[in-house]
Amino acid sequence: MMYKSSRGYSEQYSFSDAVLTGIAPDGGLFVPVEFPKFSADDLNRFCNMSYCELASEIFSAFADDFTKEELDACVKNAYADGSFPDEPTPLSVLSNTLSVLELWHGPTSAFKDMALQILPEFMSVAIKKSKKHNKIAILTATSGDTGKAALAGFKDAENVKILVFYPAEGVSEMQKTQMITQEGGNLSVVAVRGNFDDAQTGVKNIFGDKEFAELLKERGYTLSSANSINIGRLLPQVVYYYYAYFALVKNGKLNLGDKINFAVPTGNFGNILACYYAAKTGLPVNRIVCATNDNNVVSDFLTTGVYSSNRPFILTISPAMDILISSNLERLLYDVSGEDSDLVSRLQQDLKANGVYSVDKELSDNIGKYFWSSTSNQNECRKTIKSIHQEFNYLVDPHTAVGIDVYDKYVISTGDTTPAVAVSTASPFKFNKTVAESLFGEDSVENKNEFEILEELSEKTGWEIPVPLRDLDKKPVLHKRICNVSDMKNEVDEFLQ
Ligand SMILES: *Cc1c(COP(=O)(O)O)cnc(C)c1O
Repeated sequence: MMYKSSRGYSEQYSFSDAVLTGIAPDGGLFVPVEFPKFSADDLNRFCNMSYCELASEIFSAFADDFTKEELDACVKNAYADGSFPDEPTPLSVLSNTLSVLELWHGPTSAFKDMALQILPEFMSVAIKKSKKHNKIAILTATSGDTGKAALAGFKDAENVKILVFYPAEGVSEMQKTQMITQEGGNLSVVAVRGNFDDAQTGVKNIFGDKEFAELLKERGYTLSSANSINIGRLLPQVVYYYYAYFALVKNGKLNLGDKINFAVPTGNFGNILACYYAAKTGLPVNRIVCATNDNNVVSDFLTTGVYSSNRPFILTISPAMDILISSNLERLLYDVSGEDSDLVSRLQQDLKANGVYSVDKELSDNIGKYFWSSTSNQNECRKTIKSIHQEFNYLVDPHTAVGIDVYDKYVISTGDTTPAVAVSTASPFKFNKTVAESLFGEDSVENKNEFEILEELSEKTGWEIPVPLRDLDKKPVLHKRICNVSDMKNEVDEFLQ
């Protein structure tokens, strides 16, 4: 199985090289040259597998330059080394038609762990196979969640170092504490004076600095990124859609072969694209419900065929979905246009030049066969957190609430009662302030810090605080560096001496 660029670059890449390279030389995203297709017999065989067995089966179809032993080891190190419970992605059944797939039982209590726990394993094996790279340095600018998940994943990975920049103003107390207490011998965390855009631009400039790249190359390092356009982050997300389906079969809500719906809270379109890839490789999916918050650029595109990022950026209570450029959409466009790389290149150029592109009706209709989309605003989101708690005695974080609210809108709009799974992307405790406010009113959190609110939420609901978030404020601070945007390159230089 080889990988190629969504923008037509001629060379094909092995899985190893695609993972290490991150983005194709023409700026396109790596996509499989041909998708594997699992048969009814395969599904039958997969149905009773453990999460690790299933993951290894699915990866072997996508990463055929890895041996089965290598894949088994990657999977075991990621999901069965104590960083997840025995059941990594539990399914909570709320009703006959709606279940919730909890993807937040990893080391940082959010779903990015599902991919970022295994990406470093893939990279370590890939480096040994690759003739192009020998040591990798991961640089990441984070608005909060990705940074911690990347640090936890890459901690002590062989032949990999990681440096995370976060905006000194602009991450929550909890997120900051999670990062600056991170242990590990191959990593560093640095605050940047400025906001997320400043940090992000600083990192992009370092990636674009050819002279600096040469200098690092002499030291044996290739710069790479851990963001969600890496194919090695996308594939691990395909696994849990299969796993959720089989969980519903096992508990009698579905017969093998029946169709299922998924609802996915969407930002950069990575998680939901993995659902589409699951459908494409043989999972019986009826509809994929794409849920957006007030930054509803993707939802507008899926319903009108016009993508326009020319709109105000709104800071919301579901910050991981606050995004106006949704990178992984490019892979969907490539696929639904019949792999038209000229079209994809043109659309991405339009986006870059004018902040907008549009597709014709045929393509738009094609997308509509798979996807349905709508928005949940902040008020609706808070109401959903509260109503889910009242109705089911179940706690959801704001991102998950957006997904469930939009799923409800889907059912009202279409009458479709196909059994559905809503994907839960973060622990309610990770966004405890919003959850507590929604359940108990604004007064309940007044004058309390995030750690006090954790305790309060736990006491009032009887839910346990996840281990990774417990006692965080008592851990020693290990990373105290702070720099100006103009010094970021020096920080990298020093870190990679
Ligand atoms: C990243 C993130 C999302 C959005 O996922 P995409 O793959 O970017 O669409 C949703 N919820 C949470 C909690 C996240 O961290």
